[in-house]
Amino acid sequence: MAFENVLYEKIDKVAKITMNRPEVRNAESQQMSREIQEAFKMAEADDDVRVIILAGAGPDFSSGHDLGTPAARAEAEKNPPQPGLEWGMNMETWRWLEGPLYIRDIPKPTIAQVQGHAIMGGFLLASMCDLIIASEDATFLDMAVQFGVPSFEYFSHPWELGIRKAKEFLFTGDSITAQEAWQAGMVNRVVPREKLEEETMNLVQKIAQNQPFALRLVKMACNATQDIQGFRPSLVPQFLLHQIGHAHARENPDYASLLPGMMRRR
Ligand code: ZN
Repeated sequence: MAFENVLYEKIDKVAKITMNRPEVRNAESQQMSREIQEAFKMAEADDDVRVIILAGAGPDFSSGHDLGTPAARAEAEKNPPQPGLEWGMNMETWRWLEGPLYIRDIPKPTIAQVQGHAIMGGFLLASMCDLIIASEDATFLDMAVQFGVPSFEYFSHPWELGIRKAKEFLFTGDSITAQEAWQAGMVNRVVPREKLEEETMNLVQKIAQNQPFALRLVKMACNATQDIQGFRPSLVPQFLLHQIGHAHARENPDYASLLPGMMRRR
């Protein structure tokens, strides 16, 4: 598959997937969602690849879901949002629930390399990876409450931050710094911006030296433990509450001035 929105590179035993729309801070259009998922599938299918990096080109990791670039508007014209919940729920299921869960369970270690802003859906993309390495200037933000929903679609927040910090993070919509994220255990390492690529590559090269089957088993063990604790089932009620929130906000004039055009009544 030829990619337009992501770069796919192989460096030794590592696949590096770079979101490549720096002019719009790697806003995630439908096409980019599709290409990210396809790129991870390619890396999964390639026996030479032992570890996968997800990175963003330019100053920011990702500004989140694309809610208004010309590319997103063209996609919306081609496949217009329909009234009711079904259309939006189907769209969000493959892009931000099932897609990220598939990537979370790929039987190879994955690492998000985060610099600058990781806003809402951008934070989601980092969250679905096994490890996060962040530069000192990285910040993470989920201001979903302003849009009338509990959080972005993939509700990993309590697992990333602990429940009390997750509540504060979501209630306030304040961003957290890489350092705060590290203290909460959400980020594995914080490194100077100019060292981010090098440090990420050092870490993945070290991981890639190990037996792929053993890496697969340890990932299965960790994810199974988290699922027994309730991770996977807990995503579903939040996803449904998220859909209710979207529907309410679309119908409620109090939200109208806050919602980007593409999220208003349809
Ligand atoms: Zn949504």
